[in-house]
Amino acid sequence: MANIIVLGAGIGGMSAAYELRATLGREHAITVVGDGVQFSFTPSNPWVAVGWRTPAAIQVEAPIYLAKKGIAFESAGALRLDPDANQVHLGDGRSLSYDYLVIATGPRLAFDEVPGLGPDGGFTQSVCTTPHAQDAWLAYQDFIEDPGPVVVGAAAGASCFGPAYEFAMILDADLRKRKLRDKVPMTFVTSEPYVGHMGLGGVGDSKGLLESQFRQRHIKWITNARITGVREGEMDVSEVDAKGEPVQTHVLPFKYSMVLPAFTGVDAVRQVKALCNPRGFVQIDAHQRNPTWKNIFSLGVCVAIPPVEVTPVPTGAPKTGFMIESMVTAVAENIRADLTRQPAEAVATWNAICLADMGDTGVAFVALPQIPPRNVTWAREGKWVHLAKVAYEKYFLMKIKSGNTEPVYEKYVLKLLGILRTR
Ligand SMILES: Cc1cc2nc3c(=O)[nH]c(=O)nc-3n(C[C@H](O)[C@H](O)[C@H](O)COP(=O)(O)OP(=O)(O)OC[C@H]3O[C@@H](n4cnc5c(N)ncnc54)[C@H](O)[C@@H]3O)c2cc1C
Repeated sequence: MANIIVLGAGIGGMSAAYELRATLGREHAITVVGDGVQFSFTPSNPWVAVGWRTPAAIQVEAPIYLAKKGIAFESAGALRLDPDANQVHLGDGRSLSYDYLVIATGPRLAFDEVPGLGPDGGFTQSVCTTPHAQDAWLAYQDFIEDPGPVVVGAAAGASCFGPAYEFAMILDADLRKRKLRDKVPMTFVTSEPYVGHMGLGGVGDSKGLLESQFRQRHIKWITNARITGVREGEMDVSEVDAKGEPVQTHVLPFKYSMVLPAFTGVDAVRQVKALCNPRGFVQIDAHQRNPTWKNIFSLGVCVAIPPVEVTPVPTGAPKTGFMIESMVTAVAENIRADLTRQPAEAVATWNAICLADMGDTGVAFVALPQIPPRNVTWAREGKWVHLAKVAYEKYFLMKIKSGNTEPVYEKYVLKLLGILRTR
């Protein structure tokens, strides 16, 4: 019997635990180590920030549902890893031993890279975690009592641009509903070289589509932008040219701001230097396996992948939900292969599929494979995307409760579209 520890109870970790159980059967022990007991459906955080969802509506108590599949849960979080001793040291002083470790700890939010950025001691809101989104909603309720300029965007080094676009459009839709939009000048500030780059070098005509949405919604934008500092009600932004040379500085006033930070690996993981790249993301080979410690696999936002292309202000490549699920399948298949002394050869497709909600409409992006040139690349806008995103939320929360890792929709619909999890 093997002892498998999955670190992190987010989209990647929960999916991995269930898929390992389905792939390996009941004879192996699986334990999820979470940071608290809640699973949060992160893609719905922008809705929490405008009061369209409560935190409770998008959170699930992970241990209850994992237990139904015979998966143990530890809520104390990992403080430190000792990969030479195959041990995880927990926040409550205990240690767990493992035969295989699956690291799915998501990102550390690097607000500290820009003075004044972020909700904890800074001046901007965040939708990166559900508690942040709840705080953003409290600040938004004060803002709508006394509205003014809004700045939404993504900092230098950010890789997750979709939620910044979503939040700008959702805010616009919400303010229109409240008949307050005329009192709110909005600016989108991003490290991307152009609107719709998304850290992916663009997807189909994402540039045209998103610029058109911004124009229709009276949202101004500044690209190739590095946010250099934030004070109460003001943001300093340096705009650069294609060579990265400063061309203009802006001081943007705001009464409400939400900015996505750059990410690094989390502390428990990044302190093991030989496991990670310089930003603390876990080094993996084509089979999601760490090259130094072969019994460590990793998936989700915490894995090291290179940027799709060099940009004047640094940007990273996003790791979206379906891409993460393809990594999950590859990890489960490779651990099974290793346990039966077969070569671990499964390779995740890393296909990027993303539904970006815009409050009343939305844009769907499909990039197969993630890095251009691609076999399939398109972006389409329509109300159906908004509805599809709502359906996706319900479907994913149902999946977390049922532990069914590849329900009918994924098995048949995505296969019909030629979207597979592994090669
Ligand atoms: C606001 C937002 C919206 C997004 N929307 C979409 C979308 O619509 N579609 C899409 O495809 N992708 C979306 N993404 C991208 C991606 O799908 C999500 O970020 C997803 O949550 C990543 O999953 P993950 O498991 O890698 O990380 P996470 O979901 O962040 O999970 C990591 C988990 O590990 C835990 N953890 C951290 N450190 C420790 C530790 N030391 N010990 C134990 N546990 C630890 C964390 O608390 C967390 O629960 C979005 C991202 C954000 C931030």
